[in-house]
Amino acid sequence: MPRPISATIHLDAMAHNLSRARACAPGAKVWAVVKANAYGHGLERGLRGFAAADGLALIETENALLLRELGWQGPVMLLEGIFEAADAPLLARHGITSAVHCIEQIEILERANLQQPVDCFLKMNTGMNRLGFKPETYRAAYERLRAIPAVRNIGLMTHFANADELAHPRVTITEQIERFQRGADGIPGERSLCNSGGVLLRQRLSGALADDWVRPGIMLYGGTPGGMTAAEHGLLPAMTLASEIIGVQELQAGDCVGYGSHFTAERPMRVGVVACGYADGYPRHAPHGTPILVDGVRTTLAGRVSMDMLAVDLTPVPQARIGSQVTLWGRGLPIDDVAHAAGTIGYELMCAVAPRVRMAEADVGAQHG
Ligand SMILES: *Cc1c(COP(=O)(O)O)cnc(C)c1O
Repeated sequence: MPRPISATIHLDAMAHNLSRARACAPGAKVWAVVKANAYGHGLERGLRGFAAADGLALIETENALLLRELGWQGPVMLLEGIFEAADAPLLARHGITSAVHCIEQIEILERANLQQPVDCFLKMNTGMNRLGFKPETYRAAYERLRAIPAVRNIGLMTHFANADELAHPRVTITEQIERFQRGADGIPGERSLCNSGGVLLRQRLSGALADDWVRPGIMLYGGTPGGMTAAEHGLLPAMTLASEIIGVQELQAGDCVGYGSHFTAERPMRVGVVACGYADGYPRHAPHGTPILVDGVRTTLAGRVSMDMLAVDLTPVPQARIGSQVTLWGRGLPIDDVAHAAGTIGYELMCAVAPRVRMAEADVGAQHG
């Protein structure tokens, strides 16, 4: 008898969210981002959920090859490019597009003497200061990459530091777009700028933002980059993490719950003990008040999350008992709400679902809740 916790993956929601991304960025091709095991949903499920994408983008070289083995014949892009010289012939052999963000990667491609063509996206650092060439050195990098005989198409890309808000006090999307356009001025090639934040804000950004390719990740899984809600953008959760109540305690006023006795009952109440803990990927630092659904009713976490269990306040669900259904996030409870309460982001929660949690696909056609 398995523990009752499971993560249900909604492939139909993934396909739906992809169509939302297309609607937000009409005319742009879509790299569906499937890094980190499709944000914790499973690479192979990402492949099927996003079968209608124009390309799949990720970070891990071995998973790029796995996509080919799984039969994906469309474009694949490595968002951080290659990590060592041995990766270069793999790109060429398997037709994998690579971001190029530093001179060392260009040197590898120069020395690789590739026999088959490779496509690249040259990355510009427009203010994020993570990866990429500064606008001043971008053209020289482009010329050097262009001079490599095996390099076929060169796209131009950058990444936004604050795509979730238009008026960031330090680095705005608009500023980054301007730097990109200055640095890329006159250089031919397809452009790729927008992550989910950029896609979702696209209509409110200057008309100057014309990606040939957008690169949404989180929105395809039904989360948002912050500062907005999935519902307002018509996004559906791609994962529901659910479990059951495996124990009930009747508390008197003054009774405490869990490690550290962090939660104290102020009056007589019932708490349910849920088979879900931090070893399942639930955030240990989630405080009292973090939302949880029991039998579809919104209630809250009570006390510290332990390795295998957590406790919920059953006051709003007096009928709850052992076996009652619990939703940690997903349908009926946006992952962004849980993440916000726990002081993190939906991305981290999705990616952290532990291997011991059974993961299965929902029956296609099941009702959206
Ligand atoms: C992860 C990533 C994305 C997707 O970002 P989201 O915020 O999940 O949409 C896009 N581009 C690059 C380079 C990335 O690393």
